[in-house]
Amino acid sequence: MRMSKYYAPTLKEVPNDAEIKSHELLIRGGFIRKTASGVYTYLPLGNKVLKKIERIVREEMENIESQEILMPIIQPAEIWQESGRWDDYGPEMMKLKDRHNRDFTLGPTHEEMITTIVKNELRSYKQLPISLFQIANKYRDEIRPRFGVLRAREFIMKDAYSFHDSEESLDETYKAFYKAYEKILERLGVDYLVVEADTGAIGGSDSHEFQVKAEYGESTIYYCDCGYSATDEKAVSNVIFEESNETEQEMKKVDTPDVKTIEDVANFLNVDKTKIVKSLLFKGREGWVLALIRGDYELNTSKLKAYFGDQTLSMGEPEEIKNEFGVEIGFIGPVGIKNVKIVADYSIKNMKNFVVGGMEKDKHYVNVNINRDFKIDVYTDIRMVSKGEPCPKCGKPLKEIKGIEVGQVFKLGTKYSEKLHAYYTAEDGKQKPFIMGCYGWGVSRTLGAIVEQLHDDYGIIWPRNIAPFELVIIPVSMKQKELSDKAEELYKLLKGKYDVLYDDRDASPGFKFKDADLIGIPLKIILGKKMKEGKVEVKLRYERNSEEVDITEGFEELL
Ligand code: ATP
Ligand code: MG
Ligand code: MG
Ligand code: MG
Repeated sequence: MRMSKYYAPTLKEVPNDAEIKSHELLIRGGFIRKTASGVYTYLPLGNKVLKKIERIVREEMENIESQEILMPIIQPAEIWQESGRWDDYGPEMMKLKDRHNRDFTLGPTHEEMITTIVKNELRSYKQLPISLFQIANKYRDEIRPRFGVLRAREFIMKDAYSFHDSEESLDETYKAFYKAYEKILERLGVDYLVVEADTGAIGGSDSHEFQVKAEYGESTIYYCDCGYSATDEKAVSNVIFEESNETEQEMKKVDTPDVKTIEDVANFLNVDKTKIVKSLLFKGREGWVLALIRGDYELNTSKLKAYFGDQTLSMGEPEEIKNEFGVEIGFIGPVGIKNVKIVADYSIKNMKNFVVGGMEKDKHYVNVNINRDFKIDVYTDIRMVSKGEPCPKCGKPLKEIKGIEVGQVFKLGTKYSEKLHAYYTAEDGKQKPFIMGCYGWGVSRTLGAIVEQLHDDYGIIWPRNIAPFELVIIPVSMKQKELSDKAEELYKLLKGKYDVLYDDRDASPGFKFKDADLIGIPLKIILGKKMKEGKVEVKLRYERNSEEVDITEGFEELL
């Protein structure tokens, strides 16, 4: 590719909404452009890197014999209503209607869809296990889209789903995906950590997250030398599980109040409804908990969660309103009244008040200030895990690190197959629901995560196998014919074998070096005064020094 014709609009200025380096560099380097909040275009450079990441992901999926499909992005509401997630998934779901007033969603994920596709057609235990994957756009109306492609509203995910007739078979496939994900990260050349994770809204039992270590990552990870590592949410439930030997069954049962609206909740809690934020309502469990946060905050809302024994209950996305308290954020959800843990992210700034209320049939606790009048008989504990606390496995002090979640694997069990009536004929002739697993990988988030970890003051430092170009040829002047001729010759020689950029622009060498560093091309071949002696300068992106190389004898083995 010739740089003079290449569409890579680089910028000197830092874009004003770029809070972290990867976002800044991907914009400045001409990789991406914002179309709307959380919606991006990938320009040629960005698209090239995406395709290289995709290739690695696809190859590792094929290595474990997962089969590629392509499902529609538009999904009918009915399948989500059947699974119960049309309401439970919350406002992150992008919903739309067609001209006949039928409801659809732009898929945030595809469990319902894949289960519907295989049902009736995947019939026998003899066909199991099987796993299917796709690489496609996903849509999530994130409450705070930010950090460029890291938290977008339209993004590219590789999502895979597996079907089994036994827990052992699921376990085997789960391990295969786990290993494949480690291989992907090794091929990408980034420093990562695999951590235990909770299953959140998706449901199911085991789960692991694959985290790229990064100073400004949104995930907080606790880990220990003994090998224990978990997301903060999971760490809380591990710690809680250790601390209390109670199980869900032992907890006190109370009747669920019949509340459907904010007004019902307000009446039930006996508070003014303006003091309750508009929030998600759930029915059908044993009790309720309400949490409000008031004040200025920088909250990762996905981290506002309630824990119930060893189980995490996803409360859905809280919503915010402005009222006499300033900004208030909150949610209400069903939880067992005893042993409830509310966990909020540390990034709450200047939190003025954290209010937790809960209710039993005949008792109400509202506007409880944790520090002042926290009721230990109702809430055994409200806590967050922090570094230095004892590891739930070995008791040594936990360490803390930040990461970017690029992948997650789940054991789903039969949640979706039961709800959507997806059965197969087992060896004994009986109809049984599929045991399922699902495995997500954020392809476009990976692009941002790599840059967030691999950059310096000058720009991006791509690992060679995913760099948009492996090397760039830079003649220090295009006006000196012997240099531009030689550069042209080299370009023709190398371009069939490598991904080569030829910076043929009539610009100063300093200007060209800056762009090459910003874009992050791993290798520069510089043609300057020593060309007369048959020598070029070869410079690696991550080294400041260059090496002189004689090219009269041939050249390629040096690359
Ligand atoms: P997060 O905790 O960051 O919100 P998630 O746990 O909701 O992510 P999953 O449902 O596990 O995401 O989806 C699988 C993968 O898709 C994630 O591991 C991540 O790499 C990617 N992903 C999820 N949400 C986004 C987003 N808003 N923008 C870009 N990638 C995303
Ligand atoms: Mg999310
Ligand atoms: Mg997550
Ligand atoms: Mg996840």
